[in-house]
Amino acid sequence: MSNPTDLTISSLQEGYRCGAFTPVDVLRALEERISAVDPIVGAYLSRDFDTAVAAAEKADITLPLGGVPIGIKDAINVQGESCTCASRMLEGFRSPYDATVISRLRSAGAIPFGRMNMDEFAMGSSTENSAWQKTRNPWDPARIPGGSSGGSAAAVAAREAFATLGSDTGGSIRQPASLCGVVGLKPSYGRVSRYGLVAFASSLDQIGPIARSTRDCASIMNVIAGKDARDSTSLDLPSEDFSARLGGDLKGVKLGIPKEYFVDGMDKRVRECVENAIRQCEHLGAELVEISLPHTSYAVGVYYIIATAEASANLARFDGVRYGHRAKDPKDLLDHYMRSREEGFGSEVKRRIILGTYVLSSGYYDAYYVKAQKVRTLIRRDFTDAFEKVDAIVCPTSPDPAFKIGERIDDPLRMYLADIFTIATNLAGICGISVPCGLVEDEGTSLPVGLQFLGKPLDEARLLGIADAFEREGSGDILTRSGLPA
Ligand code: GLN
Repeated sequence: MSNPTDLTISSLQEGYRCGAFTPVDVLRALEERISAVDPIVGAYLSRDFDTAVAAAEKADITLPLGGVPIGIKDAINVQGESCTCASRMLEGFRSPYDATVISRLRSAGAIPFGRMNMDEFAMGSSTENSAWQKTRNPWDPARIPGGSSGGSAAAVAAREAFATLGSDTGGSIRQPASLCGVVGLKPSYGRVSRYGLVAFASSLDQIGPIARSTRDCASIMNVIAGKDARDSTSLDLPSEDFSARLGGDLKGVKLGIPKEYFVDGMDKRVRECVENAIRQCEHLGAELVEISLPHTSYAVGVYYIIATAEASANLARFDGVRYGHRAKDPKDLLDHYMRSREEGFGSEVKRRIILGTYVLSSGYYDAYYVKAQKVRTLIRRDFTDAFEKVDAIVCPTSPDPAFKIGERIDDPLRMYLADIFTIATNLAGICGISVPCGLVEDEGTSLPVGLQFLGKPLDEARLLGIADAFEREGSGDILTRSGLPA
């Protein structure tokens, strides 16, 4: 039997069932792997091995995710563990409760293990905005893993996690999954409870899985999805089997290709790789249909108005009184607020709060915020119209492969453009998944490229079926490799 850390969740569970190893063996192997590779990758902010082993000793392997360790983005609360959102603002904070996704994972036998690095408060596309450490792309440690769930994606790629939870407000699950060569799903808005996820932009945020197969993402969805009385935005729907459509092919599936998603300025090699992958979908039986999403060019602008407006409101709670870093010896209350926030937040977070406060301020509210909401409706309608003609949409996840650490950090606009293919999904509330579709060569290293499938709201089961059919034929060996030493 190969090293258990190389396995997908489904083969890990097979190993449990046939007695090849136990959850405790697996945690030990994982810990060994983390000790070997995380000094390079830097995906984990912390982990509590002893607590995880205690859970593994009692694990019931007959449960849906029995004995499966799952890494958790540092924005999701796990009782008793630190939850910093990679910000000085929350340094030393320990969660008094479990997020709903965590209690669901526990009831299904999974073991939350480790806190994954991220961009501060999930703002960023490279994980360079973490106040604590850089995370490196396992395919080339000189490069970023994507973001904001960069730790969650890098750990899965580097075989130092079987799967992780991330959060996606504008691409933060799919873009790092694409750049690290793994699978990441953003569920439809309302599908997964956000209770216990530190809010960034509440009308856009969703929690979702990152794993080494579409099948594993489906298994996690089967556990975390569903109505939660503690999140009024979670939808009350009949329970669904997200694995039901796995194992099929693409025969008869109508895939829309949005012409606006093949833009000048995107990396030529990425474009070629994605175009080949789309041809492969056709070989697998899909019918390709050219579609138009005419308001695509407004998506980045609309997102950076709505997301920053919501962020400025959500982050107002971190004032050093009830929550967050507290400045020492304030002169008066105003000095207390100002210095606590000045010292606690990093520069990207400050930039977003300033932008968001501006677009909400009287005199500018109608011109920016209200206008952006109207354009958001148009973007949503583009998708509604497209889904009248096709079952799903296929396009690139990211316009470029992983870039070098430091390359874009001083150019926020260029960084924001990394989300060009992912943010409209969140604005429209639909679901999206990224699966590896090939490698491109850059300066002597092979870098993964992701193919993105977008589905109608609440059509995850079909979307997962489509992604799985592609992955089995089209992802090659990307999901079974990592650039790092074995
Ligand atoms: N990169 C985008 C941003 O910085 C998206 C982040 C996210 O999805 N959390 O806002």
